[in-house]
Amino acid sequence: MLFQVEETGYEIRFQVFGVPVMVHPYFWLMAVILFGNDVVRYFDGGNPLVNLLVCLGVVFGSILVHELGHVAMMAWYRMPARVVLYGMGGYATPVGGGSAFRRGMWDQILIAFAGPLAQFVLLGLILLLGYGREFPLNPVISWEAVFYVATVCNLVWPVFNLLPILPLDGGRICQGFTRIFQGHYQGDITALWISIITGGVLAVLFFQAGSFFTGVFLAYITVHNFMELQQGSSRW
Ligand SMILES: [Zn+2]
Repeated sequence: MLFQVEETGYEIRFQVFGVPVMVHPYFWLMAVILFGNDVVRYFDGGNPLVNLLVCLGVVFGSILVHELGHVAMMAWYRMPARVVLYGMGGYATPVGGGSAFRRGMWDQILIAFAGPLAQFVLLGLILLLGYGREFPLNPVISWEAVFYVATVCNLVWPVFNLLPILPLDGGRICQGFTRIFQGHYQGDITALWISIITGGVLAVLFFQAGSFFTGVFLAYITVHNFMELQQGSSRW
């Protein structure tokens, strides 16, 4: 259910730089699952509810910057796109014909890399502003919690997304290279095997480390990739 993209009537829609954005309600749930416990329990000062809401805003802004990185690179290739934020994070998808990933291999690699890159740039700005600073205790909001979420979100999210697991950005980058070296058909099979092995091993490691949500997420896309591999080979 967390992974569904079907509309529920509780979506938020707006445009930023002319790019349509839709935020699915499960996006907020995912943000609470990932950061809620840390924000409410481990920081002194601030009102826990205010801290939580502001940190949800920080997660929202960070993932939006990530997706707008993809959109900017798509715009470079003259592909208008829209952004969806949902229970698994976010994605940017071209609008009006033509999939981003049917184009040249280097286009695919650069578009996939632009999302994490945008977040690394944002992380640099956040560290410039807050690194090594003492945050005075404030009764309304814990700036320490805000800085923590902003840093972790903009470091862990792009690094995780660069794992060579389809359909993550790293998986797309990996697939771009395997297609360059092995051609479309064999390249896709190799990219799926790399996804399955990496995803399967990491799912087990995350479960062992007690990171249930990430483990389920990786197990889910690993099963999905395995089915994709089977369907792909029977279709060809
Ligand atoms: Zn991305």
